[in-house]
Amino acid sequence: MDQHSLAPHVLIFPFPAQGHVTPMLNLAELLCLANVKITFLNTIHNQQCLTKHTDIEARLARYPGFRFKTISDGHPDDHPRLGGDWLREMLQTLPSSAKPQLREILVNATGIDKVTCFLLDGWMSFARDLAKEAKVPVIAVRFGSACFTWSIKCTSELIEAGEIPFKDDKMDQLVKNAPGIDSFFRYRDLPGYSRNLDTSSCQYIQDMSTSEVQAIEEAQSVVINTFEELEGPFLSLIRSHCSRVYTIGPLHAHLNYRLSPKETTLSKNSSSNLWEIDRSCISWLDQKPDKSVVYVSFGSSTMLTKDQLIELRAGLVQSKKYFLWVVSPNLITKCDINSPIQDDLLEGIKERGYMVGWAPQEEVLAHRAIGGFMTHSGWNSTLESIVAGVPMLCWPYFGDQQVNSRFVSEVSRIGLDMKDSCNRTIVKNMINDLMERKKDELQGSMSKTSNLAKKSISEGGSSYSNLNHLIEEIKGMIKKEEH
Ligand code: UDP
Repeated sequence: MDQHSLAPHVLIFPFPAQGHVTPMLNLAELLCLANVKITFLNTIHNQQCLTKHTDIEARLARYPGFRFKTISDGHPDDHPRLGGDWLREMLQTLPSSAKPQLREILVNATGIDKVTCFLLDGWMSFARDLAKEAKVPVIAVRFGSACFTWSIKCTSELIEAGEIPFKDDKMDQLVKNAPGIDSFFRYRDLPGYSRNLDTSSCQYIQDMSTSEVQAIEEAQSVVINTFEELEGPFLSLIRSHCSRVYTIGPLHAHLNYRLSPKETTLSKNSSSNLWEIDRSCISWLDQKPDKSVVYVSFGSSTMLTKDQLIELRAGLVQSKKYFLWVVSPNLITKCDINSPIQDDLLEGIKERGYMVGWAPQEEVLAHRAIGGFMTHSGWNSTLESIVAGVPMLCWPYFGDQQVNSRFVSEVSRIGLDMKDSCNRTIVKNMINDLMERKKDELQGSMSKTSNLAKKSISEGGSSYSNLNHLIEEIKGMIKKEEH
C-alpha cells in the first residue's frame, strides 16, 4: 500500500464566495503539506473562474493526494452571480442543488473514495445530515471571527428573548441579554441580518442561527481562522459550548510560513482570485511616498448605491490623500461609476487616485506606500490588514462585517468604525483621522497585534501548535476506522 492509500481522506466544500474559497484553499494546502488526501469541491462556475484567472490547479497538482471536483450551483451559465444579493440567493438555493451530488460523494462512496472526515463550512450546515447518514466525523470550520461566531449564538438567544427585532431608535443602545458582548455592542453592531426583520425573516434568521450553533456544538471539533491572542475572551465563551476549538489563523500567513522559501514565492505569485488581478497598481504605488496611500476595498460582495458612490468619491478626493480604490464588478452593479462628475473632483481623482477592478490585496497591503485600509471589514481582509500591520477605517456592508468593525475599533483598537454613515465630510474627516490625527495611536496597537499574529503562526506559537493538533486528530480518525 502506498502512503496515500493510508492517508485520511478529507472532503472540503466551501460556501461558493471569495471569502470562503480563499481560506479553504489555504487550509487544504496546509493539510496537503501534512500528507492528508483532499477532495475539494467547488461550484462549476467558481472552478472556471479559478482556472481562467489563476494557476491554482497547477499549484495544487504538486500534491498527489489533492483533487478538485465540481458541483452545480443550480443556476444557468449566463447568471451574473454578482454581489450580496447573489450570496443571499445562494444561501437559499444551494442546499437543494448541492445535496444530490454531495450525497454521492459522502454517503455512496466506496473504497479509496470513502471520506474519513468532512470539513463543514459556515452557512453550509444543511450538509451535516448527510455526514451523519454517512457516519463521517465533521469538523466545523469558521472563516469569520470568533466574535462573530459568538454573536450568532447571541442572535438566536436575543430573538428568543424578544430583543430582536428591534426598532431604529434603539440602534445606539447597548444590547441587553447577550453575555460577553453586552458591555460594548450596540444594536447596530449585531450581525447585519438582525436589522429590519419582519416576522417571517425573523423566523428564517432564527432557524439559520440555531442550525449554525448546532453545527458547531455537534461537530467533533471546530476550526476558526483567528488566533488566541486576538480573540481569547470570545474563544473562552465558544469553548464553554464546544468540545474542541482549534484556532489556526491567520491562515494566509500560516500557509506562507509553512511553505519552504522557494514555495513561498510560488504561493505568493499564485492566487485564488475569482476575478482577474490588475497588477498595474503596484507600479503606481512604487511612485508614492511611504505610508501616504489609503487602500480602499470593500471585498467581493459589497454593492454601492448611487448616493454612496458619490459621497465616497467626494470624501476620498477631499481628504487630499492618495488613494488606490478597488472598483470591482460587484461594487457598481447598482450604480454607474462613469456617471458625470464635477470638474474639481475629476481633477482630484486624476491627481491622487488610482482605480482597479481587482487588486493583489495581500501584496498591496504589504507595500510600503500603504498607510491605511478603508475596508468593509470582511474577516479575511481584517486578518490580512493585521498581518501587514495596516490600521483600518471600517465601513461595514452586511453580515459579520458589522460585528468585525466594532471588534476592530472597540476591542482591538486597531481601526476606526464609520458604520452606517457615508457622507463626504465624515469620509474626509475619518480618512484624516486614520492617516494623520489618530495615526500614531492606531499604528501602535496595530504593530503589537501584528507581531502577535506573526508569533502565533511561527513554530511553537498557538496557531502553529493548534494546526499540528488538528492534523493529529484527522490522522487519528483513520486509525479508528482500522479498528
Ligand atoms: N481581495 C483581493 N483583491 C481585491 C479585493 C479583495 O484579492 O481587490 C481578496 C482579499 O484579499 C480577501 C478576499 O478577497 O482575501 C475578500 O474576503 P473578505 O472576507 O475580506 O470579504 P468578502 O469578499 O468575503 O466580503
